[in-house]
Amino acid sequence: MHETTAPRQQTDVLISGGGVAGLVAAAAFGAAGFTTVCVDPAPPVTEEGAAGADMRTTAFLHPSRAVLERAGLWGRLAPHAAALQIMRIIDAGGETPKARLVRDFDAADLSEEPFGWNFPNWLLRREMVARLAELPLVDFRPGVATVGLVTNESGAEVRLSDGARISAKLVIGADGRNSFIREAAGIGVKTTHYGQKALVCAVTHPRPHENVSTEIHRSGGPFTLVPLPDRDGVPSSAIVWMERGPEAERLAALPTPEFEAAMTERSTGVLGPLTLVTRRALWPMMTQIACTFSGARVALLAEAAHVIPPIGAQGLNMSLADLRCLLDLAEADPAHLGEAAMLATYTRRRWPEVKAREIGIDLLNRASMLEPRPLRDLRASALGALYAFKPVRKTLMKAGLGLR
Ligand SMILES: Cc1cc2nc3c(=O)[nH]c(=O)nc-3n(C[C@H](O)[C@H](O)[C@H](O)COP(=O)(O)OP(=O)(O)OC[C@H]3O[C@@H](n4cnc5c(N)ncnc54)[C@H](O)[C@@H]3O)c2cc1C
Repeated sequence: MHETTAPRQQTDVLISGGGVAGLVAAAAFGAAGFTTVCVDPAPPVTEEGAAGADMRTTAFLHPSRAVLERAGLWGRLAPHAAALQIMRIIDAGGETPKARLVRDFDAADLSEEPFGWNFPNWLLRREMVARLAELPLVDFRPGVATVGLVTNESGAEVRLSDGARISAKLVIGADGRNSFIREAAGIGVKTTHYGQKALVCAVTHPRPHENVSTEIHRSGGPFTLVPLPDRDGVPSSAIVWMERGPEAERLAALPTPEFEAAMTERSTGVLGPLTLVTRRALWPMMTQIACTFSGARVALLAEAAHVIPPIGAQGLNMSLADLRCLLDLAEADPAHLGEAAMLATYTRRRWPEVKAREIGIDLLNRASMLEPRPLRDLRASALGALYAFKPVRKTLMKAGLGLR
């Protein structure tokens, strides 16, 4: 009864989901002059120590910076950035967990800029929510979910959990891997589970990271140290440690001294003894891609469209590439926002690119998980061979960044 009488609000864009991707999308569309409503049932947690804080960090690669600038976010974020100048790959797949092959990919080979910049996700949320408050065209509603979607040629009608109804020209599903909007639009997904989990936390260490992001391969998945700004004057890094599920759970439950010893050994001691400075969080690993990235009046963005393991900092960077594509299309033809031709172009431009990256990351992950020694030896030789040839090395670096 209440639902049918609720007043209907009109907006250009309705964004379902205020995770990092949805928040950037809201800022970008709002800054570009589109009226935008963004809803999320979970209010953003904006302090590191608070319950429910996202302990992941995000390394924004070079092309993402332009999107953040367009959204008016880069100026807020830049003072908190840890630059990533070198991507170091270590193979420690021998008999003992020692570095037996070390290869550096240096951003200086491509340009004067670093590969990217790393930020804690809780801090991203804090700055993004503050940015939305500055934008008169953005109406951010934490604590509210999308619960209904009806579309027709002229627009979409979205029902919210507080009973409100919103008419939108374009509905963006940025509501994560179990996206409500994706399901409501009848879009299927293809999912692969690896039986793996990523353990994430932050550490301090005696040796400075010198803006080197280090990925160490042995078995079970990569162990990655990503630079963070110093913590009370002590060098600090984010850890993403991928392991088979039961092993990741065992590690997450270890008493701190044992866990620190295990981390230090797995890191090959590259930055000295590691000290845990945050809680540990576990993320199940999967690859998932939606069959299409659009439906009537609906565009899927970020994890609603694609999920990949966190290797090479691809996930959210692909999401910002989705956003750039959608925003370009909207700005080029605002009168036809959300119409079928625009959304078909969005899928045509993004789906094949995302699929190719998904295949690449899946292969890298499987190579990193290898248990048998002979295959691990083969992996080390392949890395050595790929690295040795400079044009291949440069092509790999450009592909990783999403540059053509
Ligand atoms: C360990 C780890 C490390 C990573 N590191 C990197 C990295 O360095 N670089 C990188 O590019 N990527 C990285 N990624 C990937 C990146 O974190 C994700 O791509 C990104 O956080 C996903 O953002 P999202 O906004 O799509 O999803 P989410 O963060 O899941 O947000 C979805 C939001 O939708 C909301 N929601 C759900 N249902 C509804 C509904 N019905 N209505 C409204 N809202 C709803 C949820 O409450 C949630 O807030 C990493 C991932 C992991 C697991």
